[in-house]
Amino acid sequence: MNPETRIYLSPPHMSGEEMEYIKEAFATNWIAPLGPNVDAFEAELAEYVGAKGAVAVSSGTAAIHLALRLLGVGSGDEVFCSTLTFIGSVNPVLYLGAVPVFIDSEPASWNMSPAALKKAFAAAEKKGKLPKALIVVNLYGQSADMDPILSLCNEYGVPVVEDAAESLGATYKGKMSGTLGRFGVYSFNGNKIITTSGGGMLVSDDLEAIEKARFWATQARDKAPWYQHSEMGYNYRMSNVLAGIGRGQLKVIEDRIKARREIFRRYEEAFRGVEGVGFMPEAPYGRCNRWLTVMTIDKNRLGVTPLDVIRVLESENIEARPVWKPMHLQPLFAACQYFSHAEGASVSDLLFATGICLPSGSSLTEQEQQRVIECIKRCF
Ligand SMILES: *Cc1c(COP(=O)(O)O)cnc(C)c1O
Repeated sequence: MNPETRIYLSPPHMSGEEMEYIKEAFATNWIAPLGPNVDAFEAELAEYVGAKGAVAVSSGTAAIHLALRLLGVGSGDEVFCSTLTFIGSVNPVLYLGAVPVFIDSEPASWNMSPAALKKAFAAAEKKGKLPKALIVVNLYGQSADMDPILSLCNEYGVPVVEDAAESLGATYKGKMSGTLGRFGVYSFNGNKIITTSGGGMLVSDDLEAIEKARFWATQARDKAPWYQHSEMGYNYRMSNVLAGIGRGQLKVIEDRIKARREIFRRYEEAFRGVEGVGFMPEAPYGRCNRWLTVMTIDKNRLGVTPLDVIRVLESENIEARPVWKPMHLQPLFAACQYFSHAEGASVSDLLFATGICLPSGSSLTEQEQQRVIECIKRCF
């Protein structure tokens, strides 16, 4: 155990199988965008999650952008969004000239609060302007409580995009996270549970919509012998080399989930009985992939804040991060509406103030994790 070795939050973890697909891409000179790895990666991911169709793109953010455009989101529209998330969930709303309205978390899953959502819909109805779409985030690898959220959205006729960037392989009542809304989005950014170094996927059972997304993502090139364009498009497709990495990664997704869940279990066990320490609960309706283990610490009991602990960990060459800063607290969104879980009690504000994301990569060894645990215990 070398204390000089840096422990990262969630570094890439290759399976070894990736090189075979990359070699094949080189051997056949399928380096340029698209090709057999892209087609196969789309088919394999769609099969794994149980979606009818998938389109591989350059990022999860791009996939959300395409999903919102498919739903007709445009200038001046409102889009309901989870507040406790990464900015990539929400930037596409701005790309389309629309306005986000932020919804708080609930304590049981840390995801979108059905109670807050109900208030937001009631206010929208009163105002006479319903949202064009809703983006629900599945935070840190756990599905939101989709049934009450979908039932409210159905009641108001509002389509749902599931931001499953962090929750590939998580389940909700037996279904794969990302397949419960009209569209689902996964990310293969470098820190996610599997990675293509950078990339994303849009899935849906609506094959016509998937074809349209594919068209827009390829510069919206019309079927013609020359370069002809009738619509605005994007250069959003995934390269055939990167899709090869994705195919190798997808083969081991279940192992990766097992490893991350085991890492969570060891953290939980190490701090069991320590007053003032908590963890993101696993809601009874499904399996969390435990992308990141998130701990909460009560400053009054333990005498330290998450930032204090992060600073001490950093001094020992260990990377840790605060919980996402909620979108309704971001300067960028200062003018946006926000609906909290309960009157005068914002769950996401509390999680931001008390939460800390711990090193959770599937390649983390038991010795390395012990180093993290001992360092945190010394802080208390
Ligand atoms: C990572 C992430 C995204 C963005 O994915 P990229 O592939 O980095 O564009 C969106 N939403 C959430 C919740 C994420 O964690």
